[in-house]
Amino acid sequence: MMAKLTRHPLLWGETPLMPLPRLAKKLGVASVWMKRDDLTGIAFGGNKVRKLEYLLGHALQEDCDLIITGGSPGSNHCRLTVAVANHIGLDTWLCFSGNKLGEVQGNLFLDQLLGAKVFLTGCYGSEALLTVMEEKAEEARKLGRKPYVIPVGGSTNVGDYGYFHAWHEYIAQLDQLETVPNFDEIYVTVGTGGTMAGLLAGQASTPNSSRIVGVSVWQDQKQATQDILHLTNDLLREIDKPISVTIEDIHVFDQYIGQKYGVPSAEGNRAIRMLAELEGLFVDPIYTGKALAGMIDQLSQTNSAHKHVLFWHTGGTPALFTHVSSLLEKGER
Ligand SMILES: *Cc1c(COP(=O)(O)O)cnc(C)c1O
Repeated sequence: MMAKLTRHPLLWGETPLMPLPRLAKKLGVASVWMKRDDLTGIAFGGNKVRKLEYLLGHALQEDCDLIITGGSPGSNHCRLTVAVANHIGLDTWLCFSGNKLGEVQGNLFLDQLLGAKVFLTGCYGSEALLTVMEEKAEEARKLGRKPYVIPVGGSTNVGDYGYFHAWHEYIAQLDQLETVPNFDEIYVTVGTGGTMAGLLAGQASTPNSSRIVGVSVWQDQKQATQDILHLTNDLLREIDKPISVTIEDIHVFDQYIGQKYGVPSAEGNRAIRMLAELEGLFVDPIYTGKALAGMIDQLSQTNSAHKHVLFWHTGGTPALFTHVSSLLEKGER
């Protein structure tokens, strides 16, 4: 095992794998289950904690004392990075895209409670933000600090390895729990694609026939597929697995983005309500609600009565509070 890939444990344990019988009945499928990565144990949870177990493991190994990362002011990744860094006693600098913070709600509100140091960069996009983060790291070094830079979404080989690990956690759960079916499809939200890449890399190294389906909330299908292909094969190379995936192995939909990334969609909002009313569980308007809407639509398009499906929840629920007015709009009830 690469020394670089050292886990600093942050999760409380395995996240639950639970059935959603009322949703399954409503959708007319054999079963729907959920992998609860909204319950990763700290600061309202989410998928980024799994990436941060390895990213901060790496930062600690390198004796870093400052974490620099970034994203939009509503970023789940930023909120969880600050929380986790506080938890282990490291400082964090957040580099936000754009020129204004907007309403202090949801994740941005939590960042403030967590005491994050925040910079508004005036830039947009992952690459531009990474450049600013590298400049900040240079400034920090001049101040005698030892910074560790985490790109937007934490999607490096080190971060994505958290989802390789998650895949193996899931496989072990399937073996333990006798009532879990063999899933035909596993739906997961795609932002930068690192989460899906980690899962695909995990699946490539175990015999398993489920089809992993990504629902993009940001990029078009072509770009998301290319990114996931590269992230998956880079990770497999990093961990010395003599296997690779091809473009045919990567299934991504991009028709559930709505107007654009960061803006709630009507279908996503309906999916949020459906899950809340049927199962008492929450998904969010920016990521998981749109992915759930994608799953619901895909299942309705083909004969799915025999299907067993898993929705891999990736968190994001603080964003519900940033979008109260959109969620309460008439016509979406
Ligand atoms: C970041 C995020 C994702 C996307 O993860 P990627 O690894 O960037 O694809 C999905 N859901 C939620 C709630 C997130 O915060």
